[in-house]
Amino acid sequence: MTFKALGLYDSLLRAVEKTGYTEPTLIQQKAIPVILEGKDVMAAAQTGTGKTAAFTLPMLQLLSGRTNTKRNSMRALILTPTRELAAQIQESIITYGSNEKLRYGLVFGGVNINPQKRVLMKGLDILVATPGRLLDLYQQKCINFYDVEMLILDEADRMLDMGFIHDIKKIIALLPKQRQNLMFSATFSDDIRRLAKPICNNPVEIDVAPRNSTVDAISQKLYHVEKPDKADLLCEILQSNPGQTLVFSRTKHGANNLAKRLNRDNINSAAIHGNKSQAQRTKALDNFKTAKVQVLVATDIAARGIDIDQLATVVNFDLPHVPEDYVHRIGRTGRAGATGVAISLVSSEEHKQLRDIERLIKRPVPAGDSDEFTFALAEPLPSKRSPNKQNTRGHNKSGESRRPAHRRGKPSVSTGKKAASGNKWNSSRSRSAASA
Ligand code: AMP
Repeated sequence: MTFKALGLYDSLLRAVEKTGYTEPTLIQQKAIPVILEGKDVMAAAQTGTGKTAAFTLPMLQLLSGRTNTKRNSMRALILTPTRELAAQIQESIITYGSNEKLRYGLVFGGVNINPQKRVLMKGLDILVATPGRLLDLYQQKCINFYDVEMLILDEADRMLDMGFIHDIKKIIALLPKQRQNLMFSATFSDDIRRLAKPICNNPVEIDVAPRNSTVDAISQKLYHVEKPDKADLLCEILQSNPGQTLVFSRTKHGANNLAKRLNRDNINSAAIHGNKSQAQRTKALDNFKTAKVQVLVATDIAARGIDIDQLATVVNFDLPHVPEDYVHRIGRTGRAGATGVAISLVSSEEHKQLRDIERLIKRPVPAGDSDEFTFALAEPLPSKRSPNKQNTRGHNKSGESRRPAHRRGKPSVSTGKKAASGNKWNSSRSRSAASA
C-alpha cells in the first residue's frame, strides 16, 4: 500500500516523501480515503499509530485550493486536550502542508492571549485549539465559527478524562450544523459514544486499536520494589540503560523530586508537568528531544503530547490508577512499528493496580531478572499485613529488612561496576526516596 493509492494529491505526496515515510500506517490506510469522501469518522487509534497524519493529510487536501481571509474565522477546527498535543498537530500541519497555501493558527492556554488574537484577525483555514482558550477567545469576540466546515476532536477520551466535556459541548453548540466531523479516541468507551452521538453524523467507525497490538510491540517487565527503594532501583536501571527514557510519575510533586534525585546521581533529568510554565515545559521537552537530558520525568497529562521518535524505554515509577493510562504510557515507546521496552516499578501497595492492568491487557506483565541489580527486590505477591505487619519502608516491625534472606547484607552482584553501586545502595537506603 502506498500513500498515492489513498488518493492524495501530488503536492501532499511530495510533502510526505520528504518525511521519509514510505508506507501509510493502518489508521492512515483506513481513514484517509473515507475522510476524502467527506464522511464523518469515529476512529479508535492510540497515539503512536500515525493518527495525526491520518486526519491532517486528508484535511489539507479537502481545504486546499482556497484560502480564507475572513477576519476571526476558520474553516477547520481541531480540538485537542493539551498544549503539547496542539503544538504537535501544528507541526504536522506545517510538515504536510508545506506545499499548500493554507493559513493555520494555534491557540492554547497558559500563554499571552494577544498574539493569538492577532493571528486570528487575519482569518484562518485551520485552527488548532485547546478548549478553554478557544472559549476565552470566543467570549472576547475574537473568534466566530460561521465558516467551520470541518471539526476534528483529537484524543476525545483524554478530553473527557480532563473534564473538558462542558467546554466541548459549548463549542459544538456554536458550530454550523453542516460540517464534517472526525473524532479520534484511544478507545470507544460508552462515554465516548455518548459524546459522539450528537456530534457525528452517521460516522464510519474505524478501529485500529485492538489494545494488544500496541502492547505486543513492547517488551514489558516489572520489578517488585518497595516505595522507598524505587528511586535507587531507577538509578541503577538508568545507569544500565543509558538511552533516552521517559519516566512516569503519578504526581507533579513526585516528578519534581525524582528529577532532582536523578540529577544528584548525575543522571541528567528534567521534569514536565502542569505546574510548570509553558516556557519551562517547552525547554524541558526540547532538551529531551535533543538529548541534552537523558531522562524526562512526566505526569500522565503532561506526557500526552510528547512525540519523540526512537524513544527506547519508558519507566512507570508509579503505576497509574486508571489501567488505560498504562497502555497510553507504554505506547510512548514502540511507536509506529519500532520496538521498545516498558519497565514498571511495583510496590506492594500497587498490586491492585497491577492486577487491573493485567486484566486490561489480558496478560501478566513478566518480572524482570532481579540479578541484574545490586539489591533485592520486594516480594512479588501481596504480603499479608498481619500479624507481622510490614511498614512502607520495606522493614517489618522488628526492623528486619524486607529483602529476602539470601540477599540481605549482600548488595553486590557479579560485576565490579555493580559492586560499586551496591555500596551506594546501602548508603542511600535511608535517604528519603522521591515518591509520589
Ligand atoms: P501519532 O500517532 O500521530 O502520534 O504518530 C506517531 C509517530 O509516527 C509520529 O512520530 C509520526 O511522525 C510517525 N508516523 C506517522 N505516519 C507514519 C508512517 N506512515 N510511517 C512511519 N511513521 C509515521
